[in-house]
Amino acid sequence: MESVLRGIPASAGLVVGPVHLLRWEVPEVPQRIIAPGESDAEIARLHAAIARAQERLVTLRTRAEATAGAEEAAIFDVQLTMLGDAELVQAVEKLVRQTIAAEKAFDIVMLEWQQRFARSAVPMLRERVGDLTDVHIRVLSLLLDLPDHDPVDVPKGANAILVTHDLTPSLTLQLDRDAIGGIVTEAGTATSHVAILARSLGLPAVVGLRRASQVLKGGELVILDANEGTLTVRPTEAEIRDARLRAEADQARDEELREVAHAPAITLDGQSFVVRANVDIPEDAESAALSGAEGVGLMRTEFLVVGRAHMPEEEEQYRAYRRVVEAFRGRPVIIRTYDIGGDKLPVGGYPHEANPFLGWRAIRMCLDEAPIFKVQLRAMLRAAVHGDLRIMLPLVVTVDEVREARTLLEEAGRELAERGVSYRADVPLGVMVETPAAAVACDTFVRDVDFLSIGSNDLVQYTLAVDRGNVNLAPRYTPLHPAVLRLIREVAATGAAHDLPVGVCGEMGSQPLTVFALIGLGVRQLSVAPRAVPAVKRLIRSITVAAARDAVEAALRSSGTAREVELVLRRRLRVALGEA
Ligand code: PEP
Ligand code: MG
Repeated sequence: MESVLRGIPASAGLVVGPVHLLRWEVPEVPQRIIAPGESDAEIARLHAAIARAQERLVTLRTRAEATAGAEEAAIFDVQLTMLGDAELVQAVEKLVRQTIAAEKAFDIVMLEWQQRFARSAVPMLRERVGDLTDVHIRVLSLLLDLPDHDPVDVPKGANAILVTHDLTPSLTLQLDRDAIGGIVTEAGTATSHVAILARSLGLPAVVGLRRASQVLKGGELVILDANEGTLTVRPTEAEIRDARLRAEADQARDEELREVAHAPAITLDGQSFVVRANVDIPEDAESAALSGAEGVGLMRTEFLVVGRAHMPEEEEQYRAYRRVVEAFRGRPVIIRTYDIGGDKLPVGGYPHEANPFLGWRAIRMCLDEAPIFKVQLRAMLRAAVHGDLRIMLPLVVTVDEVREARTLLEEAGRELAERGVSYRADVPLGVMVETPAAAVACDTFVRDVDFLSIGSNDLVQYTLAVDRGNVNLAPRYTPLHPAVLRLIREVAATGAAHDLPVGVCGEMGSQPLTVFALIGLGVRQLSVAPRAVPAVKRLIRSITVAAARDAVEAALRSSGTAREVELVLRRRLRVALGEA
């Protein structure tokens, strides 16, 4: 068996620690018949498992309340209510009295309930299917005595490497940052939402490590090198020593970079850039404000929703947005309206679609569900009183969508005025350029918007027709494809011609080679993960715009493939940095 497993680096860092294997899936339940005289003991075993599951849920709720807030923690109340449901418990007991073992009886009843909920005409019940599955897994794991299944068990300071198939939002909510030192998932790619979440949590992560949970047993010591995307199983003493030395060197480099964090982002030929931070959860606001970022270029608001039992109320959202705006003390904070759909889904309650990335998502859903959208818009308009808040619409393909959104924004303002609540009416409104349609026709937006922000994660996906989250397609997801670069050049030129700021807030803004390309293509604003701010600034300060422009033009002239573009850019960047 190989000892180095390879995946996709998703959030930088290097950590040595024990594996915490989390199989968050309904386990196989063997058929087991008990003797009639054993049913009382079996029912007692069932009750003990339910009691233990309830205890764990209470622990999780308390923790989530402290870290994420009461609203997020409410998801665990729903699950506690399910476990306390007399009808459910009695149905399981009845099967046990018919000599079916507790785990099988519980499995049968839960499957029945899930089907009943999924088919229900009541949306509230359909939304609960995910919670039923969580409860199903939790109790079965206890009844079957499966090892190591709950992140709640990881002791503080363990520095454990959480290995799981996928990091779902409710799992994210359960993570104890004091116990978990790194994340490995079998699913996901560098731009999928598991990667974005890991970066927000500041935890080293490797995703797309396909056979991790088959190869690992749980408990063994491993080296997670999330800079390279590797996981070393059964490392030697020498490998561990070396990894620790490299981790120290990384830390020293981070400290060195911190010195550049607050320097202006100006190229050697005197061109100024704006480097802002992406903020994915409001709790990150304060640390992001210290990263050297000149504001927030993208605050994702989906994480207020995914994994939640209910859509957040206006007041809760207002507090979240205000927190970010205040942390940045008057600097611009661009908040994106809900980008729900695709791979960012609330718990249940969302239509199943054959092609979710081409489906009813983002601005499309918001415009169709105006009451939900207006709650968010009102919260934003109120928070705007506290600083320089700007609103950004995702996945726009036509200017009609902007106009409709503006109408709803005005209505939201009037509703606040009627309530006598203070708000700011003149909030700038911008759009994300994430589709070839928006890029090619970006001149059609210029009169209706205040800024453009290129969402390169999606722009690459839609231009190349490559699902950004599909690990089997990861090598085909090539941001340096000439088609992508030409679209970005077009958007930057249109922005410049109409005096509209054009930024990039996808992952292309974080990697040195793609930053070099973006600068050459005419982009002057970047928004990146807070941890990436210093390195991006250092790169900007080390090159000239002229060199970047020449490099990208040469690459586009002489190359027909992403690989060729990459080779030209790499060579030119080395020269520009004086390394060649
Ligand atoms: C993007 O698509 O580049 C982007 C920033 O948005 P998200 O990653 O949230 O889809
Ligand atoms: Mg996007």
